Amino acid sequence: MTVGDPTAGAPGGDKASADALYLGLRDGEAPLTREQASALVRAAHPAHSDVRACEACGSAGTRPATWRRGFRIAECLACGFLWVDPMPTAQDMWAYYNKRTWKPYSPEVIRSKYAPSVAAVLANVPPGQSVLDVGCDHGHFAALLRERGYDVAGSDIDGLALTYATEHYGLTVYQGDLPDIDFDRRFDAVTVLSSLEHMVNPFHVVRAAARALRPGGVLLISTPRADGLVHTVSRRVFAPVLHAWEFLAPPSHLTYFGRGSLRAMLRRAGFATVTFSHQERDAAYRARELSETLTECPDAPSWAKATYPLLRHLRTPARLLDLGDMMLCVGRTPMPSAPGTEGS
Ligand SMILES: [Zn+2]
Repeated sequence: MTVGDPTAGAPGGDKASADALYLGLRDGEAPLTREQASALVRAAHPAHSDVRACEACGSAGTRPATWRRGFRIAECLACGFLWVDPMPTAQDMWAYYNKRTWKPYSPEVIRSKYAPSVAAVLANVPPGQSVLDVGCDHGHFAALLRERGYDVAGSDIDGLALTYATEHYGLTVYQGDLPDIDFDRRFDAVTVLSSLEHMVNPFHVVRAAARALRPGGVLLISTPRADGLVHTVSRRVFAPVLHAWEFLAPPSHLTYFGRGSLRAMLRRAGFATVTFSHQERDAAYRARELSETLTECPDAPSWAKATYPLLRHLRTPARLLDLGDMMLCVGRTPMPSAPGTEGS
């Protein structure tokens, strides 16, 4: 099948029953709003424990940094990594995502949504090579890569989404959390695009990615950038008066990397080289984040209400300064040793 028409061939036939299946809902059970699902995760994990060591660089020098939507955000003093602490369990997040409303994408939305990700793969992985897409969801992106000539497989914890990926796209899929999957092969490339920030165990995921790659293989990660210009100004100038920093979006986003913290984590996981390039966040998404933050802060001073939305105009200077909202990270596993330098 071609990419698009996400409801065609979905188990259960019509759209309503297909949606109910993906949501994991029983008959007559209404989906929860984001706020209701967030409250469930919060209730399961009150933030009473000590802040744990940094998942990115391993440093024990960490501290509580701030709160957002009832979740405590911790910060590493060594590398600047930020994360929801304590971290919800994978089971909590599974329940969270399966209670969220799932809207099928149109073919046009699929192509435009994944265009930057396809471009990132084309720029770093020769067509014909094998690619494992981690967090492949319904397989839309993996199917686009296959159209471009890649030998693609996907992995996800969501068995219902994987059923769709196999039945609709005929994709090869592996179900489970990446560190728990035993692969019967190695890949030329692994992609973790706009998904690392949703994961409860990013270090274990990138270490498992290193194991799933051949020597000299490529890991591609795209994720929001905590050390970008808009986020830095938002945090330093506005967060003290708004008591909210729009970049923080728990429990959907659980981890927040800058280039330094992501590099530290990949080096710790065994990657030989780590490089970065600019990626752009969708402009409408950026404007919506800024306005949503203000609605959470009705008592903000008028100067802040007037100037905060203007942060969206920092996109161009941010790009020129290489301090954009998103980053594309390319990690490479070590090349094999020269013949004769080690045993078989
Ligand atoms: Zn750290």
